[in-house]
Amino acid sequence: MILDKFRIDGKVAVVTGANTGLGQAMCVALAQAGAKVCGVARRSCAETQAMIEKDGFVFKEIIADLATTEKIPFILESVKEAFGRVDILVNNAGMILREDAENVTEEDWNRVISLNQNVVYFMCQAFGKEFIAQGSGKIVNIASMLSYQGGIRVPAYCASKSAVMGITKALANEWASKGVNVNAIAPGYMATNNTDNLRKDKDRSEAIIDRIPAGRWGTPEDMSGAVVFLCSQASDYVNGFTLAVDGGWLAR
Ligand code: NAD
Repeated sequence: MILDKFRIDGKVAVVTGANTGLGQAMCVALAQAGAKVCGVARRSCAETQAMIEKDGFVFKEIIADLATTEKIPFILESVKEAFGRVDILVNNAGMILREDAENVTEEDWNRVISLNQNVVYFMCQAFGKEFIAQGSGKIVNIASMLSYQGGIRVPAYCASKSAVMGITKALANEWASKGVNVNAIAPGYMATNNTDNLRKDKDRSEAIIDRIPAGRWGTPEDMSGAVVFLCSQASDYVNGFTLAVDGGWLAR
């Protein structure tokens, strides 16, 4: 039956940036859909853990800084040690730095590219090898409206999120025939820490809402349906696609 294909009972899912915002909501959604969830974060995921365990679902936190690729083998080993296998990877951890383009330093550029692009690629590679070996796996990368558009005062973020969409297509082409789905979600303007400053700027916030056909900021929970779909059997023939969850922003 069709709704059964959206269930991910017994699957093991890894979500990076699990302590807040979109990552937290996606952990909750995947757990509710049946997965055992490993949340990766620099800081405690106690809040996420409580949200999941109160309904009797399973969550394990893995503390690791993803500023560089160094901790990737540790993350993979920790997941396998905890649950014996892994089926789903959601590359969600990301950062944004705002600065006039002419003043961006190389150090800040590299920080953003390292986390948002290099770590995403090498997480895909490390987990992808496992998925190829077992003949199945789902990868969901978190892209952005700035995978499509240029944005203002966020050139490194734009470059990295454009790369996320490219990486997603490149890996899908190589891995679709091996049973591994690689897709992305491009969130629109969502109310999280990431957009705190934008939302505090009344004029910018109003201008953004005016341009969103749905007429509101997105919420972390708006990601739930899309992530469960892309991590489930229901999306087995969806490869290399970036699904916008944006209240219609891109349609405008
Ligand atoms: P957020 O700031 O609440 O979450 C970012 C997450 O990344 C946090 O969990 C944070 O701890 C983690 N993170 C940052 N640096 C890290 C590091 N060095 N090591 C490990 N984890 C690290 O914001 P969010 O909106 O939930 O962002 C989640 C993802 O969604 C990001 O990739 C972001 O670019 C993307 N996104 C957000 C929006 C939006 O409007 N909020 C729009 C498009 C894309």
